[in-house]
Amino acid sequence: MAPRFLTEREPERGVPLAVIPGVWRVVANNPGPMTYHGTNTYLIESEDGVAVLDPGPDDPAHVEAVITAGGGRINRILLSHGHRDHTGAVAKLRAATGAPVYGWNPSVNPDVENDHPLAEGDTVAGLTVLHTPGHAADHLCYATANGVLFTGDHVMTWSTSTVSPPHGDMAAYFASLDRLAGRADRYYLPGHGPLLGRPEGFARALLAHRKKREEAVKAALRESPAALADLTAEAYPGIDPKLRAAAERTMLAHLLKLAAEGRARQVNELWGAA
Ligand SMILES: [Zn+2]
Repeated sequence: MAPRFLTEREPERGVPLAVIPGVWRVVANNPGPMTYHGTNTYLIESEDGVAVLDPGPDDPAHVEAVITAGGGRINRILLSHGHRDHTGAVAKLRAATGAPVYGWNPSVNPDVENDHPLAEGDTVAGLTVLHTPGHAADHLCYATANGVLFTGDHVMTWSTSTVSPPHGDMAAYFASLDRLAGRADRYYLPGHGPLLGRPEGFARALLAHRKKREEAVKAALRESPAALADLTAEAYPGIDPKLRAAAERTMLAHLLKLAAEGRARQVNELWGAA
């Protein structure tokens, strides 16, 4: 079964929007074919202040909106992963608030330095850390004690995620999806797109979708060796040209996974069955 993706109207910009009790989001003004309406910057009420999860892109108006929304109480900056649409604003927000930065070390973004490296199972701002590599090697999800999971870009509610080597890893992505599928969360709050209530089955459907794609790739390789661009065109017919490069990266991730498993190999420019 294909995952059922959500849509939403363009959210109001520059203001905190209530998501669930104690959690707000400010949607950055970086809409696009990979980011939907923009990056969700979450403000999360904790015992001793407000944690900001994913400061968003380097956009002064967005940083200002987040600072205003924090009401002088921002005391931690948490990162889901190092991609720039989530971390471009880190330096400005840290400088303005003095809040330390928490994330996985090393970040996939050389410009990001975590003041406090996080490990699997750590607790920060009342949230439990899950290391969920795949979309990016440094990807973290954060779970509340009452069933809310901040899923970052590992699981988005409006679209599938890209997996771009070398930081993106398809085998790790499969494992991290399987991990979410085995949990009993009540809400997913993603890095892009609206909240998903009752998410049971969603991660499982994403995984099934990927496995189906992998089977299609294997079948194509058995037919005849082919170049990455041709395999991508076959797998994504009629794709929006703006998304073609990302689709090609994800196809490469599938091929590298199959190669690591001894089921595909590359000879010169062509990929074939092993
Ligand atoms: Zn993102």
